[in-house]
Amino acid sequence: MTKKILILPGDGIGPEIITQAEKILSFFIVKGDLAVELDCGLIGGNAIDETGLPLPEETLKKAKEATAILMGSVGGPKWESIDRPLRPERGLLAIRAELGLFANLRPAFLFPQLAKASTLNEEVVSGLDIMIIRELTGGIYFGNPRGIRKLDDGQREGFNTLVYNENEIKRIAKVAFETASKRQGRLCSVDKANVLEATELWREVVSEVAKDFPEVELQHMYIDNASMQLVRAPKQFDVILTTNMFGDILSDLASMLTGSIGMLPSASLAGDGKGMYEPAHGSAPDIAGQNIANPLATILSLSMLLRYSLREEKFANMLEQAVSQVLTEGLRTKDIHSDGMTYVGTDEMGEAVIKTLSTLLD
Ligand code: NAD
Repeated sequence: MTKKILILPGDGIGPEIITQAEKILSFFIVKGDLAVELDCGLIGGNAIDETGLPLPEETLKKAKEATAILMGSVGGPKWESIDRPLRPERGLLAIRAELGLFANLRPAFLFPQLAKASTLNEEVVSGLDIMIIRELTGGIYFGNPRGIRKLDDGQREGFNTLVYNENEIKRIAKVAFETASKRQGRLCSVDKANVLEATELWREVVSEVAKDFPEVELQHMYIDNASMQLVRAPKQFDVILTTNMFGDILSDLASMLTGSIGMLPSASLAGDGKGMYEPAHGSAPDIAGQNIANPLATILSLSMLLRYSLREEKFANMLEQAVSQVLTEGLRTKDIHSDGMTYVGTDEMGEAVIKTLSTLLD
């Protein structure tokens, strides 16, 4: 059966950065005989504009039929005042939940060429290679009850629920241990077990799963300490496992270690091999439509798609090599630009990657 990739450009810089990844996919199809079919759909704010819903039924149907999904980003000021359940970000939460994409892999890898682009000292970050594994379909982002209610005294109260059951913790812990066993064999589970019962259970269950992976060294760390350690000495980490909200925050923090949030890809995986791939950043409305967004996080997300969902290791490696090569040649978008480097726009960066791929494929 032909493998299908659904492309969801989304909002803000989404369409600009996705265009670059789409051109690369077309290159692999035409020049490398990659056998996939491409389709596209609406999600987020643009879907609200067209259909009234952030995740239209048609998009969900296509997503369920697809082998993998490549997404840009959703959201923006235009849709911030509409009813909460109809906001763009709810479309994203809904597609993750509907497809059971519970494991979010966010590699924070520093290309040596960008060591100077980080705001931290070069010696602190050079050689950095961390895999952050974030639970994606549970925890406080999904827990009920949630909402904003009126209290008897007339003031409003906002409330959310942090909830994790054993099965949810076990399945994400298993992914993290398997990942660590294929890397340096070190796993740090991040929680707030001293204060939050849900993460006290998290710690217990992760320790139980550890018994099946004696080759992996497990460490537990509180979120406040982990945030500090990530900035103080990030290279102490190999794989970090954490909850939905803590992972959201820690991975943005880790992105700055790699030079820019525009460099951080992500894969959201279900147990059956299906995956949704997207940059870790948002729709960056402040720079949308200016051809200055860094497309490399999206291009590296495509490389994760090729590796994890299509099992096309050769193309995945080739794409990562091409990204590395354009960085070696000194090409930089605005967010990673420094003195002596060649300033390029979103399109030029995409084209440069394709040009390098042509030489690698020859
Ligand atoms: P953001 O990640 O969009 O932007 C934060 C900062 O990083 C901005 O200054 C932006 O210009 C910059 N930036 C982001 N991506 C970049 C890139 N590729 N190249 C260069 N610079 C880049 O976060 P935000 O401003 O907090 O959120 C903007 C919108 O995105 C909101 O509506 C938010 O809800 C949404 N959002 C969506 C996702 C997603 O789709 N997965 C994730 C986070 C935020």
